[in-house]
Amino acid sequence: MAPGAPTNGAVVTASAATAGPIPSTSSSPKPAEPEEPTRKPFGPGARIDRTGVALPENQQKAVEAFMARYLARTPKSKAFTADNRAQLADPRVVTGFKPLWKEIVYPIVADRSEGSKIWDIDGNEYVDVTCGFGANFLGHRPPYVVAAVQEQLARGFEIGPQHPLVADCARLVRELTGLPRVAFCSTGSEAVLGATRLARTVSGKPLIVSFTGDYHGILDEVILRGTKNHRSIPGAPGILPSAVQNNLVLEYGSPEALATIAARADEIAAVLVEPIQSRAPELQPREFLLELRKLTRERDIALIFDEIITGFRLGPGGAQEYYGVRADLATYGKILGGGLPIGAIAGSPTYMDALDGGSWQFGDASVPEVGVTYFAGTFVRHPLALAACKAALTYVKEQSPGLQQRINERTTALVERLSGFMKREGAPFKLTHASSWFKLSYPDDLPYGGLIFFWLRNKGLHIWDGRVAFLTVAHTDADVDFVARAFEETITEMQDAGLIPEPAGGRGRDKSARPPAPGARLGKDQNGQPAWFVPDPDRAGKYLRYG
Ligand code: PMP
Repeated sequence: MAPGAPTNGAVVTASAATAGPIPSTSSSPKPAEPEEPTRKPFGPGARIDRTGVALPENQQKAVEAFMARYLARTPKSKAFTADNRAQLADPRVVTGFKPLWKEIVYPIVADRSEGSKIWDIDGNEYVDVTCGFGANFLGHRPPYVVAAVQEQLARGFEIGPQHPLVADCARLVRELTGLPRVAFCSTGSEAVLGATRLARTVSGKPLIVSFTGDYHGILDEVILRGTKNHRSIPGAPGILPSAVQNNLVLEYGSPEALATIAARADEIAAVLVEPIQSRAPELQPREFLLELRKLTRERDIALIFDEIITGFRLGPGGAQEYYGVRADLATYGKILGGGLPIGAIAGSPTYMDALDGGSWQFGDASVPEVGVTYFAGTFVRHPLALAACKAALTYVKEQSPGLQQRINERTTALVERLSGFMKREGAPFKLTHASSWFKLSYPDDLPYGGLIFFWLRNKGLHIWDGRVAFLTVAHTDADVDFVARAFEETITEMQDAGLIPEPAGGRGRDKSARPPAPGARLGKDQNGQPAWFVPDPDRAGKYLRYG
C-alpha cells in the first residue's frame, strides 16, 4: 500500500500541514491543501489523522508540557493499550490519532464505576459524561438494576424457553411509548434492521428514506451518504454500492424532502427518522414532522422513529410525545437496558404482525392470518438484559416526567453557562444540545481543537473525542459544576498556552486577572467589589471568597 493511502476501514483525514501562532477566530487562515482527499468519517467512526505539523516553539512546548501531565496521570491505561494493541482490533483505541499527540492516544481503562463517576486503573476519579454513549441514563450501577440482574443471575439465564420477564418489559414499553406491540432484540442496530424489514414486508415496496446527518447504527444500508441528485453512496469502506441502492437520503426538515417523498411514494416502504439528530440537536423541525406524518399516512408509507437516543430521555414518551407525532414503528435501545445490551421495536399491529402472524386464539378456528418475515437472534430476550430492562423502565415510569424535566433543565443551564463563557472568552468552540445531551464542536481549521478532549479528561472529566455527551439521573449539582469548571479551566489554559485563539483583537488579558487557584471564579464581594471565589469543599455548589 502506498504511504498515506487510507487503510482498510479506517477513515483517514488530513488537516493543516503546518501551523503557526493562532490568530483570532475572525481571521483564521484557510487550512493548507490536504495531502490526500479529506473524507469525513461516518458517524462515530475512528478518526485518524496522520498529517504531521511543525509547531512554533512555544506551542510545541505547551503541548509537550500538557502531554507530560497526561502521561503522569494515566500510565497504566497507556501500558494496557500498548500491551493489547496486537491482539485487540479496536477502533476506539485509535480514534483522535494525530502524530503530534500520538503518545497520549489511548482510552482511559475503567476499574469500576458508581453513579456519575468512573475510576480508572490508575486510581483517578472521573465525572462521566460519556455515560455509555447514552445508555447509562440512570447512572452507573443503579442499585435496583444491580439487584434485579443479580437475582436473575442466581435463577438462570436460559436462552430458548420463553421468559416471564418478557411480558413485564413489553408492558412497560407499551405503557411508556403508547405503541401497542413490542418485539425485543439485542442492540439498537438490530431494531432498525427489524423495523425496516417489517416496513418492506408489509408494503411490498423497496425504498427506505432517511436524512442527511442521521445515525441509525451499523447496518450496511444505513451507513450511507446522499448526493445532490439523490444517488446513495456507501459511507464507509467495505460497504458495496448495491447495499445502499434502495435507500434515499434527503435533507431533514426541507420542503424538497416532502416533495420527493410525495413524488416517489409508490416506491417508498418507510421514512426512517432520527427525530432529533444526536449530532445536530438544535434541528427540531416539528412542522415538517407533522407534514411528514400526514403524507406517509396518506401514501401507505411506514413512519419509523429511531428513538434509540430520544426514547425515555426527552420525556417518558420520547420524541413522539415531544413532537406530538405518532409513528407506525419506533426503535429503542440504550436507556431501555439500564446499561445492559437490549433493543426493541414497537409499533402498530399493521407492521408488527408481520413478525408473528398477528392475533389468534386458542379454542376456536382462528389462525395467524398475516404473512411473516424473518427476524431472530440467539441472544434476543436474554433474561439478564430483560431483568435490567424491567428494573430500568419501572424506575423511569415511576419517576417520569419530573425525572427527565430535571435533567433537561440542568443540561440547559450547563450549556448556557458554558456558551456564555465561551462567548466572553472568544473560545472557538460551540456547544449544542437537546434534552439531556450536548455536543462540543469546533471549526475544521482549528489545528489543535481535538486536544480539548484530552485536556478535559486530564481534569477528571470522562468525555470521548467528537462524541455526544450526556447528563444523567446520577449527576448532582456539584457534578454539573465540576463539568462546567473543567471546560472553563481547560479553555483558559489552552488559550494561555497559545493553542486556541483569543478573542478578535486579543482580550488583553491582564495575567493578574487569571484565576489564582484552580476552579476560582470572578464575582463580587459584599461591597460589590470584584473578588475571586473558590468552590466550598464542604457545601456542593457553594463558593468561598479566595484570599
Ligand atoms: N440509532 C441511533 C439514533 C443511535 O444513536 C444508535 C447508537 N448510537 C443506533 C441507532 C444503533 O444502536 P446500537 O449501537 O445499540 O446498535
